[in-house]
Amino acid sequence: MPKTHRRTLELVERARHAAAIRRADTGEPATWRDPYWATCAEACAHRLADILGITREHIVISPDPTRVDDGWVWPRLTVTDQGTAYEFIAANKDPHRLLCLGPCPECGNRVPLTPLRHLADLGELLEHRAGLRRPKPPLAQELVADPAHHSRCPFHRD
Ligand SMILES: [Zn+2]
Repeated sequence: MPKTHRRTLELVERARHAAAIRRADTGEPATWRDPYWATCAEACAHRLADILGITREHIVISPDPTRVDDGWVWPRLTVTDQGTAYEFIAANKDPHRLLCLGPCPECGNRVPLTPLRHLADLGELLEHRAGLRRPKPPLAQELVADPAHHSRCPFHRD
C-alpha cells in the first residue's frame, strides 16, 4: 500500500512538472506546447529507453535550438548515470534515427557523432573514446554540416 501511495505522488509531481515545462515554452518554433512535437519527442525517449534498457523516467528531454529543420526542433535526450551525462539527439522526426552526441573528430565541438540503433553502438563508442578499441565506430551522416561545427571545421557547411 505505501508503495502505491508513493507512485501516485510521483505521478502528480511529474504531471505538474510537465505542465510547467509546457507553460514555459514560448520559443519559436514551438516545442512542448506543440502536441505533435511533444508526442514525437516522447516516442524518441521511449525508443532510447528501449535501446538502453532503462525506464523513460531516466531520460530528460530538452529542445535543441541549435538543430532545427523546417520548423522542427530536434529533441535532445540526456541520461545521467553515476554522475556522467550521456547525450543523444533524435534527428528530424524519427524515433528510429537516434544519434550519440560527442566531440567532433576535427573541431571538438559537440555534434551528432554516431548512430545509436543498439546498446552495442554506445558500447563501441565508449570503448573507442577510452582508447580500448579501434577502429572508430561509423560516423553519423548528420555529422556533416551540423550547425555546431566550428566555422573552420572541414565538416562545417554554410
Ligand atoms: Zn567539427
